[in-house]
Amino acid sequence: MARRIDTYLQDLVAEEKFAFYEAVREFSDAEVAPHLLDWERKHLLVPDDCLAKMSELGLFGLPITTEYGGQGGDHTDLCLLGLALGYHSQSVAITPGAAISLGAKPLQLCGTDAQKKAHLPDLAAGKRMFVFGLSEPGRGSDAANPEVTAIKRGGNWVINGEKCWSTNARWASHVVVHALTNPTGPNGKRSTCFIVPMNAPGVFYQEMKGKKVWEQSSTGSIVFENVEVPADAILGAENDGFKVMVTTLNGGRLFIASLALASLAFALDKTRIYAEERVQFDNKPIGRFQRVQDVIVDMDIALERGLTWLMHCCKRFEAGTLSREQAAKVKVDCSRTASDLVQLAMEACGGVSCFDEFGLIRHHNDLFVTRVGEGSNFALKDLIVRPLRQP
Ligand SMILES: Cc1cc2nc3c(=O)[nH]c(=O)nc-3n(C[C@H](O)[C@H](O)[C@H](O)COP(=O)(O)OP(=O)(O)OC[C@H]3O[C@@H](n4cnc5c(N)ncnc54)[C@H](O)[C@@H]3O)c2cc1C
Repeated sequence: MARRIDTYLQDLVAEEKFAFYEAVREFSDAEVAPHLLDWERKHLLVPDDCLAKMSELGLFGLPITTEYGGQGGDHTDLCLLGLALGYHSQSVAITPGAAISLGAKPLQLCGTDAQKKAHLPDLAAGKRMFVFGLSEPGRGSDAANPEVTAIKRGGNWVINGEKCWSTNARWASHVVVHALTNPTGPNGKRSTCFIVPMNAPGVFYQEMKGKKVWEQSSTGSIVFENVEVPADAILGAENDGFKVMVTTLNGGRLFIASLALASLAFALDKTRIYAEERVQFDNKPIGRFQRVQDVIVDMDIALERGLTWLMHCCKRFEAGTLSREQAAKVKVDCSRTASDLVQLAMEACGGVSCFDEFGLIRHHNDLFVTRVGEGSNFALKDLIVRPLRQP
């Protein structure tokens, strides 16, 4: 079946980028789609052999420069990966996606040469994985002032507290911990990021149980009890931790937008094909009803518009000209529009949409994360409104 999304991407990206997208799409069709239902019904995280195959494909090293053994890809490639893998499963896509956009990215953007040499080759080879330790049980949207603390002791730092919602925690070798270091400093200058090995004494990980979205993705809580790290574990500058996190999130939000569009692309194909197969009243396809057509056409318009906007934002991200507001806007719009339309697509298809094997319910549930993750849409509107309030 020809995918509608391919028509648009072929026009929007260069030939070699489309070839990369096709390679990941083929992997996803062969290695993810046939097993997904089984993984879901058994409540499995992404299995080790699938992780190993993604690693062989070089997906974990996608944006890492060739100097460190990576693929030297850019943000367009990252979002193409999100679109290709997310078409079947957001939770499979977020596994390399978060490892890259939230794990390796802060190191690439803010790490010292020594830190890059120490970690990037293994991250590129899929032998290590970093996770992003921003959120805490008491600090979600209000992340600038963490409750996790780091206190100087001699030449070292001692970290205490808990991070949660850490994507990929199950497979992590290190966590980048955002910790309070300067409680009386000005806003945005109170915290520091530290690279902490998951096997350091005093680090305890637990998978968060009961999550009914992104079911194949690992989501962990990580507790730190008097964890001592040296001064060279600091990522970026001391008391500049929030800047490290925020810089990282700009790119991460584009990836989240790609997942929302991947779900929309799946729903569009599923609905338009089903609408021609399913017959009602005089043995004629439901695709002849204008209200069903409306849903299909609206999905098609939203997909083309979202992809065009996202690819534009990726170029600006690479050029260093993408503002926080722009990254927030594309994430808010793609996630909200895709969520609304996938819900309508389920209604257009009828009762069959309730079944896991039909696929729409998975995307419907996973789209919730795109609205709340990496900054909830409600909170991100605080950013978006700022320039609008200037005279
Ligand atoms: C599956 C999943 C994976 C995640 N992975 C990671 C990860 O890898 N690393 C990480 O650090 N975090 C991760 N997160 C956490 C995510 O970034 C937070 O959920 C998000 O920042 C919102 O925080 P919260 O859930 O605590 O909501 P809260 O901050 O409690 O907000 C609840 C709701 O209140 C409203 N609200 C809050 N603030 C405002 C505001 N300023 N204006 C208007 N309304 C507001 C919004 O409706 C918001 O949705 C993940 C979350 C999920 C669900």
